Amino acid sequence: MKRGLLIVLSGPSGVGKGTVCAALRARLPELVYSVSATTRSPREGERDGVNYFFKSREQFHHMMQTDALLEYAEYVGNYYGTPRDFVEKTLSEGKDIILEIEVQGALKVKEKFPEGIFVFLMPPSLNELKQRITGRGTETQATIDHRLSVAVEEMNLLYHYDYAVVNDQIDSACNRISAIITAEHCKRERF
Ligand code: 5GP
Repeated sequence: MKRGLLIVLSGPSGVGKGTVCAALRARLPELVYSVSATTRSPREGERDGVNYFFKSREQFHHMMQTDALLEYAEYVGNYYGTPRDFVEKTLSEGKDIILEIEVQGALKVKEKFPEGIFVFLMPPSLNELKQRITGRGTETQATIDHRLSVAVEEMNLLYHYDYAVVNDQIDSACNRISAIITAEHCKRERF
């Protein structure tokens, strides 16, 4: 059986990866979503096993040590990681899977799955990204400045990716990602 496609949706903090990924999943119900493990606490409305697998730091360390994670990264004081077995199983069943992860983790996935499809979600402009990060609300100026400098560094990793998609409007960003997935399937039809 043909293996499924591994799609990695990544991009700088504040670009809207979560929102675009949710809209894409609603549009492509056959696309399997990789539920990450994290040590951060659940936000209101989030459910264990649906949004994330919520883990203690000890549990997460155990996953790291037993090689249960395809990749992991620390982000704003918490760990996030992709459970390996589920990804492998889904691909071997011939199903496509999408990972919505931050840029350091995406680069680690690329080392292990160079055949994956790496999509970098871009802000319409750096100014727009600044506004989105600043507009999140309650953070101090120092935290905002730190997030901004991290976001600018993250933007420089763009050239590691196969595709850049500007998140100007959720719908049109989804159209383009959906077109990328279709094109990648057509490419593989040749083999
Ligand atoms: P949040 O706490 O807002 O849900 O997520 C924070 C960041 O962690 C987002 O940029 C999200 O894409 C990223 N993230 C979520 N799951 C994973 C994962 O499994 N691995 C990595 N490296 N990043 C993740």
